[in-house]
Amino acid sequence: MNFFSEKIIDWYLINKRDLPWRKTKDAYLIWLSEIILQQTRVDQGMDYYLNFVNEFPSVKHLAKAKNEKVMKLWQGLGYYSRARNLHTTAQLISEKYNGKFPSDYETILSLKGVGEYTAAAIASFAFDKPHAVVDGNVYRVLSRVFGIETPIDSTIGKKEFNILANKLINPKKPSTHNQAIMEFGAMQCKPANPDCLGCVLNTMCFAFSKKRITELPVKANKTKVRNRYFNYIVFNYRGKTIINKRITKDIWTNLYDFPLIETTTELSETEFLKSSEWKKYIGELDYTVKSVSTAFKHILSHQKIYARFWEISCKTPFNSLVSDTTISIKKNDITKFAVPRLIENYLKGWI
Ligand code: SF4
Repeated sequence: MNFFSEKIIDWYLINKRDLPWRKTKDAYLIWLSEIILQQTRVDQGMDYYLNFVNEFPSVKHLAKAKNEKVMKLWQGLGYYSRARNLHTTAQLISEKYNGKFPSDYETILSLKGVGEYTAAAIASFAFDKPHAVVDGNVYRVLSRVFGIETPIDSTIGKKEFNILANKLINPKKPSTHNQAIMEFGAMQCKPANPDCLGCVLNTMCFAFSKKRITELPVKANKTKVRNRYFNYIVFNYRGKTIINKRITKDIWTNLYDFPLIETTTELSETEFLKSSEWKKYIGELDYTVKSVSTAFKHILSHQKIYARFWEISCKTPFNSLVSDTTISIKKNDITKFAVPRLIENYLKGWI
């Protein structure tokens, strides 16, 4: 066994966190945990994992579920395409493979929502296949220990790290090796202020010996962030409101929010009420503005959303505003629908 693998496995066996998906070889449960944990911290994802397992103990249970139920259980986790892909893939496994999760890497990789990292994780954790996982933690550990300066978000960088990770994997213990390197990155070789003096790899670590920890790993492109300005219209007519099912290929597809008017800049209240978008939308409806919230700031990976909620009291029914994708509901019934976290935050002060 190579020195690197030996050291991180020894470290892992002493320091690993006790996590439920590490105690199983069931590929369905491992897949579920991996999809939940993409872009999500372990402490945040834990309850979601337990709720999903409880509600859908097997891939067939998940396949049979209504999409609305899956989305509701996912509410608050973000990156909702993960939930949609999870459901679609469960249906495919249920029908095409009779509920048995495929075990070879290429077939796992062909599943919707499964990338190279997730395929390697499932193939190694569930089936002990020697495919190295390369996630953000692994990039950090390898770039620091081996002094690799190739950007991790470049095609050439991804290839280089992938080759190295596969060279280092212990073919006799691929599952433990992969778990170990990821845990090592998450707990020991942290992004900021890692405890290098107490680290089992410090004698072989390039970044430690050259004092270059803060410079590694290297990223070529900083993500561009776009500002968006949302004006949510929260109607009230005799205890009823309107909600909107998001069907376009924007963020939050298939979730519910309120009717939305998006503007290119933040408008004052007067500017908004005079805008052609508002006038066109509200038409002849008789209303008063009950209140306007301050902007709720909501940060996504590529977008910063500033959302204000306009509470509008209607003097006459709002039937003219109800369409194929908007529905009229009793205000408190909104809790039955899957909504984005931004709406959930607003509702905290409302219900
Ligand atoms: S010595 Fe520091 S930088 Fe190097 S692997 Fe250990 S924790 Fe990471």
